[in-house]
Amino acid sequence: MDNKSKGKELQETLTHKWKNVWEVIDNEEKDKIFQVSEEYKDFLDKGKTEREAAEEIIRLASKNGYIPIEEAIEKQIKLTPGMKIYANNKNKAVALFVLGKEKLEKGMHIIGSHLDAPRLDLKQFPLYEDSELALLKTHYYGGIKKYQWVTLPLALHGVVIKENGEKINIVIGEDEEDPVFFITDLLPHLAKDQMEKKMGEGITGEGLNILIGSIPYNDDEISEKIKLNVLKILNDKYGIKEEDFTTAEFEVVPAGKSRDVGIDRSMVGGYGQDDRVCAFTSLKAILDVENPNKTAVALFVDKEEIGSVGNTSMESRFFENTVSELIGLTEENYSELIVKRALSNSWVLSADTLGAFDPNYPEVLDKLNAPFLGKGVTILKYTGVRGKGGSNDANSEYLSKIRKIFNDNNVIWQMGELGKVDQGGGGTIAYILANYGMEVVDCGVALLSVHAPYEIASKADVYMAYKGYNAFYRA
Ligand code: MN
Ligand code: MN
Repeated sequence: MDNKSKGKELQETLTHKWKNVWEVIDNEEKDKIFQVSEEYKDFLDKGKTEREAAEEIIRLASKNGYIPIEEAIEKQIKLTPGMKIYANNKNKAVALFVLGKEKLEKGMHIIGSHLDAPRLDLKQFPLYEDSELALLKTHYYGGIKKYQWVTLPLALHGVVIKENGEKINIVIGEDEEDPVFFITDLLPHLAKDQMEKKMGEGITGEGLNILIGSIPYNDDEISEKIKLNVLKILNDKYGIKEEDFTTAEFEVVPAGKSRDVGIDRSMVGGYGQDDRVCAFTSLKAILDVENPNKTAVALFVDKEEIGSVGNTSMESRFFENTVSELIGLTEENYSELIVKRALSNSWVLSADTLGAFDPNYPEVLDKLNAPFLGKGVTILKYTGVRGKGGSNDANSEYLSKIRKIFNDNNVIWQMGELGKVDQGGGGTIAYILANYGMEVVDCGVALLSVHAPYEIASKADVYMAYKGYNAFYRA
């Protein structure tokens, strides 16, 4: 039976086929995939905003022996290999460090993901009454297709800081007993003009107003009774008044939990998987790490979806400053040169999502270079638009090291790109870290329906991302 033809033998030796994870793993690993996906769904449900995700990361890190960097600075704790530190950037971004046996100066192994996701933010003076209904004005955040956000149960997640400084977290719409909110759409019977518009114009940004109430406050002396009744309910429950909205941060996200998708339960459907899928898998990977050679870092940043701007984003100096503090706590004599070396000698996986090949839309991807659901964690040499504009184009020398780490550790991986040449494109935080001279490559999970209220991931790919990140930290 082993009499293969010469051509067949040659074909097996010379050609490469990407593997479907489900076809090559054993039962033990299959069980692990389903175990990890339960933890993953729990993480998605607990962290539906960047603040909630950051809080959950810090909770899990603290439980696993990480101490806040402020404590190390205050007590002037001499940091030694194996110690675990976290740094919280304004409750929206986090960095976790496990100090390596080698000095920081030799470089770190960093995995960077982002915690923010496309959503609707409430405007700063949002509440109004019109035609016997109370509504909230919104401003969308990140790249959304506006038509996807109407007639969908929505939840309100927010932080309000009252004038006296008291901070209240408000979540309405996630508990099964909670009410939810909706943005209405036009009935098809009267939608003739709307349906003739381009898809991007059928629903407008100013039209994304959230329905929040319809019972009037019972008093004939006043106007805007429905608005007042909404304010009364908010005041009774949370002690807030209209002016408190002006300084609050309220995010509107799809209500409800993530779910298994498919009769075989092979996929996860849920909100905010871009990029909490990479946040979760890199978090899980670093929580496994004890006494690494190189310092292991999991970096979770904010504001990626609006261009990595602002003091909680990758463009901020937060990470660099944190590394400086660590050098101050590990070296006898602090010098900026050591910080620069620590940064430039580092290796990075820029952990972010991309669109997987979708048979409903085959025209936007080159099948030869597109990632597929279920074929493992995806490596992207480059992102960008047009002629690789804005891309961190990873170096061959570094790519080959990542390939070897993955192959040596039986990580199922595939190569991917964002889309067909000139079809569109995008970017990640990769180029920002590359500015320090670090070696950087994009490496994450391919999803279906990226940026939609519910995105879809393969549980096999989630698991392989975790396994790959784990191997990277251990290398
Ligand atoms: Mn992303
Ligand atoms: Mn995105």
